[in-house]
Amino acid sequence: MANGTLYIVATPIGNLEDITFRAVRILKEVDLIAAEDTRHSRKLLSHFGISKPLTSYFDHNKAFKGGVILDKLQKGMSVALITDAGTPCISDPGYQLVRDAVASGITVIPVPGPSAVITALSAAGLPTDAFTFEGFLPSRQGKRREKLAALKGEPRVLVFYESANRLSATIADLLEVIGERQVVVARELTKIYEEFIRGGLVEVATIIQERQIKGEVVLLVSPAAAMEPIAAQSMPLLLQRYLQAGELSLKDVVKQVAMETGLPRSDVYAEALRLKAEVSG
Ligand code: SAM
Repeated sequence: MANGTLYIVATPIGNLEDITFRAVRILKEVDLIAAEDTRHSRKLLSHFGISKPLTSYFDHNKAFKGGVILDKLQKGMSVALITDAGTPCISDPGYQLVRDAVASGITVIPVPGPSAVITALSAAGLPTDAFTFEGFLPSRQGKRREKLAALKGEPRVLVFYESANRLSATIADLLEVIGERQVVVARELTKIYEEFIRGGLVEVATIIQERQIKGEVVLLVSPAAAMEPIAAQSMPLLLQRYLQAGELSLKDVVKQVAMETGLPRSDVYAEALRLKAEVSG
């Protein structure tokens, strides 16, 4: 019996109009749809008038379920894999199924569409000729900092998926581990409250401290080489923050800020003196 085909189908990351004509057609034609969360996907499918047998395929059942799906493919059934949002396999389940299907000689056909990483990059205003997609950072601070330290010298734009409630902790770690950079927080892409918060890390840290950031977030970090003008801009703000905190001596504040911004200590010292004079005058 001829093998069936496995389709990897991208679905919207918010705005339902972003589904492609081809995705709708394939989802209508396949014998079975494997979805990360069948209840969630049923809503999407019914919006497009798609009524097909659904089965679940998610992180905690993928070892067993992958075998079941492979078996159906080998019996000639066509299967579409979808996830809750965006492109399967991109920080989402799917990779092992694709790997095993390929190894079993099953044709795998991608049906491209939205993905938050590309959507964020396309409008971030950061260099896009090369980038490093890192998915989610570790949730434990120690591991997260280790990872960031390893990425410090990366010459390409860094792209992370992040949860809104961990964003400020990640920004604080970025500042401490890799120093001031230009960043873009791309939030709620394609949805009603879509927003891009752009600026230096210090500036963005201040913005997100002042208001609660909700929803889904992609965090983009510019490479160190693109930073000199931004470092110069945000250095006074960073100085002010350390001086106001009053935890370090002036000498240590200058040392810290010079390290974080990559600017000469003499420049930072001159600015610190100017700020102090402003405060006392
Ligand atoms: N496979 C998906 C894709 O192709 O983008 C990603 C799935 S991953 C489990 C979910 C993460 O993607 C979220 O935590 C967030 O970082 C990012 N994300 C998904 N939709 C988003 C949106 N509409 N706006 C911003 N970020 C989004």
